[in-house]
Amino acid sequence: MITFDKVTKLYDDRTKAVDQLDLHIQENEFFVLIGPSGCGKTTTLKMINRLIDVSEGNIFIGDKKVTDYDIHELRWNIGYVLQQIALFPHMTIAENIAVVPELKKWSKKKMHDRIDELLEMVGLDPAVYRDRKPAELSGGQQQRIGVARALAADPRIILMDEPFSALDPISREKLQNDMLHLKRTINKTVVFVTHDIREALKLGDRICIMKEGKALQVGTPDDILHKPVNPFVRDFVGAHRQDERIDLESFVLPLDGTAVSHRLSADASLAEVLEKLSQHEKILIEKDGKSIGLIDRQTVIEYMANRLNERGREHE
Ligand code: ADP
Ligand code: MG
Repeated sequence: MITFDKVTKLYDDRTKAVDQLDLHIQENEFFVLIGPSGCGKTTTLKMINRLIDVSEGNIFIGDKKVTDYDIHELRWNIGYVLQQIALFPHMTIAENIAVVPELKKWSKKKMHDRIDELLEMVGLDPAVYRDRKPAELSGGQQQRIGVARALAADPRIILMDEPFSALDPISREKLQNDMLHLKRTINKTVVFVTHDIREALKLGDRICIMKEGKALQVGTPDDILHKPVNPFVRDFVGAHRQDERIDLESFVLPLDGTAVSHRLSADASLAEVLEKLSQHEKILIEKDGKSIGLIDRQTVIEYMANRLNERGREHE
């Protein structure tokens, strides 16, 4: 769907922001670009809709180079969501969402229906919000409008540049969950930039880890977590480790009749497990409301030690 063929971006001051980048993003894929600040994520994204021109190499959408599309057509057919979306303050929410449909000269009826559909899709009641002004919405709600606006004219591709990073953790989590839901219900190719590895692992079908304008690794969340290609990727993903899930079910001890009053769900994270075990010797593990076994510190440490060995072998 979107192909980068040895793409380089050299800014006027000779900064090499993107360096011989090859990427192939598939149709309907949720593709995440991640890496430290300044590694070239925004530049990569903006070259897709030609907000920035490439210096060398080519970008294709389908079989056609982006430079061969009419630039307005290209932009209208690619949704774009920024960290702090700029809604037009004097226009209503409905008008803000309908900018591209209006440019495309949709009928009033079609636009009206689409606005309601989109507001519902992003979790805002159309009856309440369609006639409000942006200033009457919270930051999280405004970002939702940004997502709705990007989806408005049903583009095939959506580019998102750290769309949730300015939000408080709760709004952020809500929007991420909405994105997960949207991802399952609409067929879109999404290129999503973040510097938050948890967000990347949660949302991405595939993740590209960038450093200094290059793609170090492209892979599924599982690949990135368990088969990092080098120490940089391993450390980058390592920030996530503390919160990793552990497969409690696979090593619980059988229930032995001792009364244990401390419980955890079978899908608890490693951090939660270790925290509980620092206070209590044994913990009862529950799944779907039923007790499935016990764990103690020893069993968890053994499990982790085995995992380390497995990982060590993978990296040899
Ligand atoms: P990211 O989004 O990963 O933080 P950017 O793509 O914004 O990275 O920037 C990549 C590199 O290019 C950085 O070193 C940045 O300072 C530089 N850069 C970005 N925009 C410009 C510009 N207009 N002129 C010169 N250098 C730029
Ligand atoms: Mg950026």
